[in-house]
Amino acid sequence: MSDVYLRFVNTAFGKTAAQSLGLPSPVPLKRWKRGDQPFIEGNVLVGAVGDSKAVSHLGLALEASPAKVFHASSISVDTLKDSAKVGNRAEPLSLDDDIEQRFSALVFDATGMKSTEDLRAVYDFFHPTIKKLAAHGRVLVIGQDPASCRAPAKAAAHQALEGFVRSVAKEVGKKGATANLLLQAPGGEKALDSSVRFFLSARSAYVSGQVAKVGKTAEVPPVDAARPLSGKVALVTGASRGIGASIAETLARDGATVIGLDIAPTMHELQKVTDSIGGKALACDITDENAPTEIADFIKQHFDGVDLVIHNAGITRDKTLGNMPEHFWDMTIAVNLTAEEHIDEELMKQDLLKENGRIVCISSISGIAGNFGQTNYSAAKSGVIGYVEAMAKQVKKGVTINAVAPGFIETQMTAAMPLTIREAGRRMNSLSQGGLPVDVAEAIAWYCHPESNGVNGNVVRVCGQSLIGK
Ligand code: NAD
Repeated sequence: MSDVYLRFVNTAFGKTAAQSLGLPSPVPLKRWKRGDQPFIEGNVLVGAVGDSKAVSHLGLALEASPAKVFHASSISVDTLKDSAKVGNRAEPLSLDDDIEQRFSALVFDATGMKSTEDLRAVYDFFHPTIKKLAAHGRVLVIGQDPASCRAPAKAAAHQALEGFVRSVAKEVGKKGATANLLLQAPGGEKALDSSVRFFLSARSAYVSGQVAKVGKTAEVPPVDAARPLSGKVALVTGASRGIGASIAETLARDGATVIGLDIAPTMHELQKVTDSIGGKALACDITDENAPTEIADFIKQHFDGVDLVIHNAGITRDKTLGNMPEHFWDMTIAVNLTAEEHIDEELMKQDLLKENGRIVCISSISGIAGNFGQTNYSAAKSGVIGYVEAMAKQVKKGVTINAVAPGFIETQMTAAMPLTIREAGRRMNSLSQGGLPVDVAEAIAWYCHPESNGVNGNVVRVCGQSLIGK
């Protein structure tokens, strides 16, 4: 479904018309284009406070990119007087002088904050620089998980980062830029790399105002940056179209062999998707009683297990509660929620989910905020969050489980919405546009990355910072 308004306001006439009528002027987002594309280019400015420790790992990550790295060297952000902390190529930049550069990213390591007074360093870093953030730029703040801070003042300071980042995201969204917060576990600096690369890159174009928690990780053998999922087998449900087809293509692009699953009537479309990526197609209704064993048998027939399980299949059956027939309720809960549990249970019972495996579920902002006429769907998608959070505490052998919660994504599901609701859904977010299936797929690829083994139990929204929900 194409966004006619987005194209119109990016013509000379459309721009002027939108400005004079006070209408939103969304900027077309820049998305990931090719495998060898660096995760960040241009000028990157790094700042830190106190004895923040993540900054040296940031430095290492940035050193592997062609970006020109600067570090804030002003008195108020004085921990970065030593360039070596931010990698060998970093140059000092005083924030007290006029700044000429435009930045593709502003990155601030706040992990060293000990009290709410330290929040002043956040202001000192961003106040002189935020207007220098380029279109499509990235703001990334790294803090500590407030739950890991024993001192209330320290917990307050780190929690404050959430309100700060969510507000920055609203201010920079009009130029197609994003702002996000990574919360690390104490001593978990090494686990940040894959998340830093995701949030600084074009892969996270439609992810803004989000908080992701990254725990400590075990050492991971080096991975091929262009094909990090080489050798992995992925199961993607609902893969014949929309978001599922894009997930299958994205995971295959990153090196995985994909089993695409969908209901029998979609076999023609599913086969096209799996043929184009060298994958395998499986006709299966995930709500059938035998579905979990059918899936397990298919995996055993072709592979020695599965590494990535992506529960994407979903349906909506909208009606207000008083008018909702019972089969609408039952089907929606069964497809969007219960089937996922049964499949995971069977794969784990038969020991088919491999070490360092990944399970990713698809929630929705309807599951976070609720939605008129969607009591069944919202309950199911909210249940997905409960399932992921509980499972995250139980998974073993390096397995992680996370969820994405898409907002308005341009698919056949949203194309079926009435025009006014569709238009409202598209514009009611900080980037004033709908996302694309690939935006959801990229977030899933980040969860699936071998180095993301510290990313567990998260629910990250892919919604352009929708105004709906928290
Ligand atoms: P879609 O309707 O285009 O695709 C869903 C796929 O799931 C279809 O191919 C369908 O055949 C398959 N499916 C349905 N029931 C199944 C069953 N019983 N067994 C096997 N496969 C089944 O939907 P989409 O927009 O691509 O959504 C994908 C996921 O993202 C869903 O879980 C949806 O709830 C979620 N989501 C979508 C949006 C959005 O804006 N499009 C927003 C939030 C969440």
